[in-house]
Amino acid sequence: MTLSVLNVCKKYPRLRGRSKSEGTIAVVDVSFTLEPGKTIGVIGESGSGKSTLGRMVLNLETPTGGEILLDGVNTKKMDAQRVIDFRKAVQPVFQDPRSGLNWKHSIAHIIAEPLMNARYNRKAIAARSLELLDQVRLTPQVLKRKPRELSGGMLQRIAIARALALNPRYLVCDEILSALDVSIQAGVVNLLLDLQRERDLSMLFISHDLEIVRHMSDDVIVLHGGVVVEQGSAVEIYKHP
Ligand code: ADP
Ligand code: ADP
Repeated sequence: MTLSVLNVCKKYPRLRGRSKSEGTIAVVDVSFTLEPGKTIGVIGESGSGKSTLGRMVLNLETPTGGEILLDGVNTKKMDAQRVIDFRKAVQPVFQDPRSGLNWKHSIAHIIAEPLMNARYNRKAIAARSLELLDQVRLTPQVLKRKPRELSGGMLQRIAIARALALNPRYLVCDEILSALDVSIQAGVVNLLLDLQRERDLSMLFISHDLEIVRHMSDDVIVLHGGVVVEQGSAVEIYKHP
């Protein structure tokens, strides 16, 4: 599987009721190909277009120019079944593992959700949940817990487990360490690198943190004001290894 991003651009429409504003050009002419087992890091300051690029790669936002191809199929031309397949193949992990959580649900329920949606039966859900917990290095005891009883780092591992539930080929990780304590960031980084090695996962790794991007990435894209100011192998971009 190959995910190709070809000359994508994003211009947000001008805000309603503000007829004088021109709209925002968030991303300009970005191209890359995500190969199996590779990580492309996207770095830039706040407002440089990183999240917009990530959301386009996730098919949550439509490019206003260029195209995104999964195995040659343009995301703009997918039928309903292809959209479902795309969602299975390309999964997000976002910054705040707490946002969007239903705080009343148990961790067992939260992990089961993507499996229920994919029509796994009860037995398969139980088995797959244990496998997923093992993959993110959590013990089965967490299944009985509620989100409020887990640390941010553990909740981010749960979010990663959910993302992995249906065996995606690609993860889009958008500032996934920023909401975590520094003391637990290395653990999540190591987990991702292990998972990648074990499963040949590809990642688009979005971060404003130079050192973490260097550590994670094969190739790096540097954005400034939506424009690519540097793009190349991490070794080229960071000249002193
Ligand atoms: P980053 O992730 O690097 O902080 P973003 O992709 O969030 O950058 O934002 C890039 C630019 O697009 C910013 O100027 C931001 O204000 C604008 N922007 C982001 N999302 C929207 C949106 N939904 N509607 C309008 N403008 C947006
Ligand atoms: P920690 O103990 O890991 O610091 P907290 O329980 O203090 O976690 O919560 C951190 C953040 O999570 C809070 O700022 C809040 O935004 C969110 N949060 C925690 N509990 C709830 C809840 N019951 N409902 C909604 N948001 C919550």
